[in-house]
Amino acid sequence: MEPIDVLKNFYGYHAFRGNQEKIIQTALGGKDCIALMPTGAGKSVCYQVPAMLWPGLTLVVSPLIALMKDQVDGLNNMGIPAAFLNSTQSVSEQRFVSQEVCKGKVKLLYVAPERLFGGTYPLVDLLKSVDLSMVAVDEAHCVSQWGHDFRPEYLKLGELRKKFPSTVFLALTATADKMTRKDIEEKLFLQHPRWFISSFDRPNITYRVALRTDAFSRLMQFLSQYPNDSGIIYCLSRKSVEETAARLQENGYDALPYHAGLDKAIRDTNQEKFIRDEIKIMVATIAFGMGIDKSNVRFVVHTNMPQNIESYYQETGRAGRDGLPSEALLFYSYGDSITLGRMVEKSDNPEYVQHMKAKLDTMVRFCQSQKCRRRFLLEYFGEEYPNDCGNCDVCFQKGSQMDMTIYAQMMLSAVARMGQSFGLGQVILVLRGSRSAKINAGQQSLSVYGIGKDKSEQFWKKLGGQLVQEGFLTQEGQGFPVLKLTPLAWEKLKKKEKILLSMAEDFVQPQAETGHDKE
Ligand code: ADP
Ligand code: ZN
Repeated sequence: MEPIDVLKNFYGYHAFRGNQEKIIQTALGGKDCIALMPTGAGKSVCYQVPAMLWPGLTLVVSPLIALMKDQVDGLNNMGIPAAFLNSTQSVSEQRFVSQEVCKGKVKLLYVAPERLFGGTYPLVDLLKSVDLSMVAVDEAHCVSQWGHDFRPEYLKLGELRKKFPSTVFLALTATADKMTRKDIEEKLFLQHPRWFISSFDRPNITYRVALRTDAFSRLMQFLSQYPNDSGIIYCLSRKSVEETAARLQENGYDALPYHAGLDKAIRDTNQEKFIRDEIKIMVATIAFGMGIDKSNVRFVVHTNMPQNIESYYQETGRAGRDGLPSEALLFYSYGDSITLGRMVEKSDNPEYVQHMKAKLDTMVRFCQSQKCRRRFLLEYFGEEYPNDCGNCDVCFQKGSQMDMTIYAQMMLSAVARMGQSFGLGQVILVLRGSRSAKINAGQQSLSVYGIGKDKSEQFWKKLGGQLVQEGFLTQEGQGFPVLKLTPLAWEKLKKKEKILLSMAEDFVQPQAETGHDKE
């Protein structure tokens, strides 16, 4: 059997996506690999398919104990012999699984890292007696102290590598900056690993960032666009999770809270309801979401600035896994960066504090930046993204450029014919053929008088603003700013060149900073 046959027969998919096939072939060829793939790209297939082709056992190390059962049930339903070992099982259950593994009846064994070396029967001893073909280390960024999700038990995986020198290791993660990448390679003692870095672009996600003023009413305005859709709202504190969920309920939304302070049973029920579409909105702290496989999440809202770009990207990445248009909206305030800075400072490792502060600074820069959001994000992850995306708030403001040549010519001519000595208001009155007393007979007799009747005053104001912003007009003079044509405008008029402008409506546009938040 070939990898593609496994994919077709067991999963029912027609083709591999992205780097999947290359990763599988390289691993099957006996080489260590590191796969960086965004959430939803299909990391599991990368180790599940080789597991089916190898004679021995594939061990999957994952920190997500809560998800193991579902993953294993899913595999068993597809006819793939899989099992898991973790602290949620009874001793006899664990013994049964161990026996099955020894008999070679299990192809994929999921374990939590602490189970490998700890406990009464450390798993390493068992592994020595079986044919271990591959070790897949999921969420591999957990090995790095520099990541946002460090798990000390992951460091022990290096020992595993040394104990099984001829086993192929495959490390997988959806988030890793440069230092984390280096850590994955070094701390896991991977042997000349091949790197597979997929594009992290999520083209179907629209990014928006706004200063947090009138947060709740703007949240309501945002949600009104999604009356029947699923979404996640992330809040910084448990308290604000509770409050936001309650207020949304009062306003008729199907929302439930999720945070680590809730009873496990309640947390699980709420999560389950969300996944099954029984409720629409999950209001949560960042405790929610890791490993959640829900494809139809249409929006992810952050009511506060996340700690770093990695977290932000991972959390927003939970939107639109089905590839359909989705939105990520982030509200921030300057207060957020101070609060987060204080949280970081609680650590007594100065190097760590410095590192996390640098990450926080980048997060702040992202929020304040006037650069295309997608470009900022992808460049942060080391990817080249040569053009602006046209699908983020910054791009919308710059505009999906529309051909405004005719109207721009009308306005530029009007400014010129009026002797470049009037402001925008007067120019618009002339263009719209106003009978206002402000218009004198001379202006009424101009060829441009009334040629712009069919467009609203709003339209002309926007157009005028754009002509100024794009450098076709200057506004000079204090008190009564007067419009004048720039050399660029004269040239465009003379050569009859196209003029592209942004006329898109602004949405949740950041207001002027007020200094403090209303919450
Ligand atoms: P990740 O772990 O990278 O977030 P998953 O492994 O959970 O992603 O896969 C995300 C979804 O994509 C799953 O529903 C999976 O079955 C599906 N998937 C993976 N590979 C393919 C493929 N080649 N074709 C179609 N769907 C795929
Ligand atoms: Zn953009």
